[in-house]
Amino acid sequence: MAVYAMTGGATGIGAELKRQLRQQGHQVISVDIKEGDIIADLSIGEGRQAAVDGIRELAPHGLDGFIPCAGLPPVAKPLSLIAQVNYFAVVATVEGLRDLIAKKRGSVLLVASNSAPMIGTDDPFVQACLEGDEAAACAEIETRDGHTAYAGSKRAITIWMRRNVVEYAGGGVRMNAVAPGITMTPLTEQVYADEELGQAMKQFGEMVPWGGTAQPEQIANVMRFMLSEEADFVCGSIFFVDGGSDAMLRSDDF
Ligand code: NAD
Repeated sequence: MAVYAMTGGATGIGAELKRQLRQQGHQVISVDIKEGDIIADLSIGEGRQAAVDGIRELAPHGLDGFIPCAGLPPVAKPLSLIAQVNYFAVVATVEGLRDLIAKKRGSVLLVASNSAPMIGTDDPFVQACLEGDEAAACAEIETRDGHTAYAGSKRAITIWMRRNVVEYAGGGVRMNAVAPGITMTPLTEQVYADEELGQAMKQFGEMVPWGGTAQPEQIANVMRFMLSEEADFVCGSIFFVDGGSDAMLRSDDF
């Protein structure tokens, strides 16, 4: 049976993926700020290091997969937290575990979003992320808005993945990203409850071509496949699991 590690396994999509993988008999090491095998605050350097060290201790022989799933919604405050958790913690933990994943020719599955293409790669916030300048990215996003913070962090992590696919593949690590649409989790509940963004998000959900919003298992089912040996030629892909909303918005662009 395989050995997986993930962040954000306490609730939502991560909790459902953890449940499904464990049900199949796999070992899943879960890192989260709330509850899990390793408790760590991924917004700060110490927490990221604690996550990497803890996973190394629990999986000394390597990982078949790593899923940095922890993420904060566009309504999280301060906005710099979104940059720290959704982008910089993901890069730090993937880089920190790279050799452990390579040991088993394992895979990394990032969690992007159908909102990622809504912000340009040339956006100054995305650029600061991609330059690896956490202080500059945090300063920039404090002058912007929650949507830019969230979608921009997801844009940046997707581009980071694409830029690093070749090097990681050469070193024995297969990288992909899933890009979920609106999924009914505590994160979405927080956005729905927000005065500014709640209504817009609900209206967007109503426009989704294939059935509005997703349940966590509909996302986790696809993630489990992408991690499995059945998907072992899937590399560098961004898999939209969004009821057709990306196709609706960007039909000619892929
Ligand atoms: P969720 O809030 O249920 O889960 C997020 C998890 O991340 C929680 O367990 C939380 O405790 C953990 N977390 C947050 N901050 C942390 C920190 N500083 N340190 C460690 N752990 C921390 O939300 P979800 O919807 O299941 O989100 C999972 C992933 O899916 C996120 O990356 C999110 O951006 C992405 N996503 C969600 C949706 C959606 O509509 N729900 C859509 C697209 C992408």
